[in-house]
Amino acid sequence: MKKPLLISACLTGANCKYSGGNNYCPAVERLREQYELLPVCPESDGGLPTPRPPAERRPDGRVATREGVDVTAEYRSGAEQALKIAQAHGCTRAVLKERSPSCGRGRIYDGTFSRTLIPGSGVAAQLLEENRIPVYGESQLEVLLDQM
Ligand code: SF4
Repeated sequence: MKKPLLISACLTGANCKYSGGNNYCPAVERLREQYELLPVCPESDGGLPTPRPPAERRPDGRVATREGVDVTAEYRSGAEQALKIAQAHGCTRAVLKERSPSCGRGRIYDGTFSRTLIPGSGVAAQLLEENRIPVYGESQLEVLLDQM
């Protein structure tokens, strides 16, 4: 039986990105051979529409659009749903889209909409890691696949 793997839905080709597009990553096809993929989109699952205004995390951890609309509650709701799915299926790791205010791990935009990256994680990536589910970005997929 294949092991379950939580994955950002946009990496699998789902058009759930804020712009209405996706972040399809061809290496996902190799993951499919070895894992039961569980695609989640924390922003959509938290109740935000697609397309939607881009948002970034602020230094205080909250998430807001460029216009200042606070969407932290939706981001948290989506993150909690992603964690529940991961735990219910016994996922031991997740592959999430880098730099996203939901899914990014380790480096995200700084909340000024100036394309400035700073250390930090998106809301869902942070919650998963706080619950001992390691998060990998798509740039680590080739390395990850070699370890499997
Ligand atoms: Fe992709 Fe995550 Fe953004 Fe959804 S919330 S579009 S899965 S990066």
